[in-house]
Amino acid sequence: MKVFKFGGASVKDASSVKNVATILQKYPGEKLLVVISAMGKTTNALEKVVNDYYYNKGNALQSLEEVHNFHLSIMETLFHNTELSVFKEVAQLFESTSLLLKNKPDGLFAYYYDQIVSLGELVSTKIVSAYLNNSGISNTWLDVRTVIKTDSTYREGNVDWVQSNALAHEHVLPLFTTEKTIVLTQGFIGCDAENHTTTLGREGSDYSAAIFAHLLDAEEMYIWKDVPGVLNADPKFYNDAQKLDQISYNDAIELAYYGASVIHPKTIKPLENKNIPLYVKSFLKPEASGTVVRTGVQTKPLIPSFIFKNNQVLISIAAKDFSFIAEHNLSKIFALFANSGVKINLMQNSAISFSVCVDMDEFKIPPLTEALMQDFKVRYNTGLMLCTIRHYYQNTIDTLTAGKEILLEQRSRNTAQLVIREIIK
Ligand code: ASP
Ligand code: MG
Repeated sequence: MKVFKFGGASVKDASSVKNVATILQKYPGEKLLVVISAMGKTTNALEKVVNDYYYNKGNALQSLEEVHNFHLSIMETLFHNTELSVFKEVAQLFESTSLLLKNKPDGLFAYYYDQIVSLGELVSTKIVSAYLNNSGISNTWLDVRTVIKTDSTYREGNVDWVQSNALAHEHVLPLFTTEKTIVLTQGFIGCDAENHTTTLGREGSDYSAAIFAHLLDAEEMYIWKDVPGVLNADPKFYNDAQKLDQISYNDAIELAYYGASVIHPKTIKPLENKNIPLYVKSFLKPEASGTVVRTGVQTKPLIPSFIFKNNQVLISIAAKDFSFIAEHNLSKIFALFANSGVKINLMQNSAISFSVCVDMDEFKIPPLTEALMQDFKVRYNTGLMLCTIRHYYQNTIDTLTAGKEILLEQRSRNTAQLVIREIIK
């Protein structure tokens, strides 16, 4: 069996959905577990619905209506017969969300977020599944919530591997028959013990696909993207981006960890533990080789890879009495970061100061710095960029930083990280 994942860009409009069908046709008779994301920018649009609803920021029902219309227009292009049951099913999904919006929230934001945002994947998979069945590519639609069980950490559900494994074997394997070799399901979402929908974190459907690959012992997993494979840099920031033909699991984990957006950081481990190769390929050029991430290979070509993160803040923390920043102070500082949910991208300490680089978050950073100021002297710098270079050479760093102010620098054998003033493009 192979596991395929199609992201939002691969189903952003009717012609993209047709292209998915063309790709699936190249695998006749193969068992395929297909994970599909919400269409285009639907998740962002649904986040607006949640904000409108929960924080009274706007008309949530109207925002939901816009999302519905976007899907309707795709459906009208894909299906000429509006009597098809998919129209009713999609209408029902929107209807149950609008019912929810009509009641005042009486629980956590994150809980409502998951109940509402999950609509995107449910609707998109309904549409794609119906289109494929209609085009002779027969497939079974699976509600992923009957299989992927999580705890109740809304917006970042932790997978219950034991339970999900049992359910995958019990419910998913029997769906593959000689007539129907494709099972199509949602990424990103799961379900907790109370049968409430959960989500696995933004961009989580790569992770969903990896969970399935792991549970079902897939021979290979494919992520179909709008880029030729994994590049050594984001072309937005770097003119000479080059495709990597193969990547070791280790490099893939490091690159994802430091923020390479092409692979979700949690995706690699479930694959590595079962030695399942991951192919990242272009849905526009499915014949091209793409990138493979697998065990026992050296990354090829072994060139420097760059990860750029904009909108960084460098916070420097010192004790008010100039005492050393050692265990006692550090544990206090870490507790404040953990409690405010701020993730540290880079840290460095000297005898009397401790510096951290974090993403700017206008909701989290001001209260955090205020809390830090109770006990410490705090200085901070905004508008910075964090550059991580994997497999660097000195001249790579020199070229990158020429004429720029370096605020912080850290190197290990394979990775260099630099905090510089933002490159505005
Ligand atoms: N639709 C979700 C998101 O945009 C999950 C995903 O696409 O991976 O974050
Ligand atoms: Mg996406």
